[in-house]
Amino acid sequence: MGEGYDLVVVGAGPGGSSTAYYASRAGLKTLLLDRQEFPRDKPCGDGLMPHAAGEVAMMGLGDWLEEPHHGRFTGFSIRTATASIRQGVPPTLHGPQGYVIRRDETDAKLLERARSAGAEFRSRTRATKLLRSSSGAVTGLMAENGGGPEGFTAPLVVVADGVGGFEGGMKAHQNAVARRQYFRGVDGPDRDHIHVFMTRDMNASGAGYGWVFYLGDGTANVGAGISTRSLAKTGRNLKDFYARFLEEPVMAQWLRNAEPEGPAKSWSLKMGMWGARRHEQGVMTVGDAASLIHPISGEGVGYAIESGRLAAAWAHEAHRRRDFSAATLSGYARQLLRHRGREHLSGQALVNLVPNMELLEPLFKACEKDGGASRALVESFTGDAPVYSLLKHPRAFGRALRDIAGNRQRA
Ligand SMILES: Cc1cc2nc3c(=O)[nH]c(=O)nc-3n(C[C@H](O)[C@H](O)[C@H](O)COP(=O)(O)OP(=O)(O)OC[C@H]3O[C@@H](n4cnc5c(N)ncnc54)[C@H](O)[C@@H]3O)c2cc1C
Repeated sequence: MGEGYDLVVVGAGPGGSSTAYYASRAGLKTLLLDRQEFPRDKPCGDGLMPHAAGEVAMMGLGDWLEEPHHGRFTGFSIRTATASIRQGVPPTLHGPQGYVIRRDETDAKLLERARSAGAEFRSRTRATKLLRSSSGAVTGLMAENGGGPEGFTAPLVVVADGVGGFEGGMKAHQNAVARRQYFRGVDGPDRDHIHVFMTRDMNASGAGYGWVFYLGDGTANVGAGISTRSLAKTGRNLKDFYARFLEEPVMAQWLRNAEPEGPAKSWSLKMGMWGARRHEQGVMTVGDAASLIHPISGEGVGYAIESGRLAAAWAHEAHRRRDFSAATLSGYARQLLRHRGREHLSGQALVNLVPNMELLEPLFKACEKDGGASRALVESFTGDAPVYSLLKHPRAFGRALRDIAGNRQRA
């Protein structure tokens, strides 16, 4: 059995690196494992919403956000089948803006911060199994590093393995898939906006959207995400939805002189805080492992970092109490729910209760004409407000309901 630690963290994405950074700063002897070598790519839209940028800055990377090859956005453009909505983004400490930064760079930077705070990092080391005492208490984990199995002892493990397969018992199901590719020379307007396309094709049988997020180096991240419900209902696959998105008239126009940079890559998403266990004796989950992707936007980097920060605080508290019981660690799960439950669970309810997003076209149309309502819509996308905050705009909401009812009668 290898050396002993106060905490072992499985996975060095944003969730794991943030856990290791804050735990190390709080004085915990922390080991961070990842099965991959860094820097490594992670298929993503690369968008850092304002709250996510705030989390990155809190890890000492505020100046790094401003590097010129990073994309910076101050506005949000949403195009649906019938509406076109434009809004400024909610403010951060850096001003009213978010960023677009390639994940190989972001994740390597966050990992660097964890290591400089004192965390020990082992790459190419895949956690395989939790170790428990005869009474069931976690005592560490087993890992595989190519040279054979190795054990690490710790009374506490944070699982930050994204959609990885460690400890199946804690897993939530995957409820969306997404694909992205980089292009050079995308010829669209408003490079200081992020562009969201809720196309009829992606929303007739469920929920989904395409995006164009500009970086600062002349490239753009072009992607599409779609609910697994849509795939099941239509019998089509993600590649097909993505290909059709690129052929939409506006996209075909923007891409007419563009050159792809590398192949398109796909990945799964676990959204909406639904069905994931976030704690048990000796274990907490963070980030995607805790199903913390926003169910409307598909955004998860900021929530992964935030949950890592909270999990590190509870790891510190558990050590202070010398109590790693499920009862103590439930404090983490409750705190997370208090912070993010409203936005995630209401978004999840919307996506699941509305049979397809096309039904909401009258709402988008009403938001187009009402500045307050369109701001609420964008804030429900950026995670700054729960989707039911649209109810605070009764004129737009009432008009949308009348139109939805009228459309259903005519159908
Ligand atoms: C196509 C796409 C677009 C997206 N766009 C955005 C966006 O624009 N903005 C945004 O905020 N979010 C976006 N997301 C979501 C975002 O990518 C995730 O929410 C984010 O990566 C979660 O971070 P994490 O640390 O939880 O997991 P990950 O980033 O997935 O990191 C998990 C790490 O765990 C490691 N690992 C797995 N299993 C093991 C094991 N057994 N042992 C050791 N290591 C292990 C992996 O190698 C990996 O490095 C998108 C997702 C997809 C698929």
